[in-house]
Amino acid sequence: MHELSVVNSLLSLCEDNAKANNAKKITKVEVKIGKLSGIEPHFLKLTFDTFKEKTICEGSELVMNIQDIIIKCLACGAQSTLTRNEFICPQCGENDVEIVDGEEMLLMRLEME
Ligand SMILES: [Zn+2]
Repeated sequence: MHELSVVNSLLSLCEDNAKANNAKKITKVEVKIGKLSGIEPHFLKLTFDTFKEKTICEGSELVMNIQDIIIKCLACGAQSTLTRNEFICPQCGENDVEIVDGEEMLLMRLEME
């Protein structure tokens, strides 16, 4: 269960942040989920809502922003959003591309009290 370990590290990250800011509770957790991260947003939310009980995130809202896959062409330098499951530069047609965004899940913002 991939989402469980993701939620566990997310919760401890929230815990650390709250401690560092002397916050008593977290009201909103905003994450960015890359389309390539393999994380199923619906399932992540379900898992988060289950495991946030009795933590600093109890009562917080999980906001998920889905991040498109952004590729950068190493041939022409163009940066583009991948619309199909095809790692080819739409500008020049080269397949010498690297992924610059959309691969992982990141904690973007926390609201706390
Ligand atoms: Zn290109």
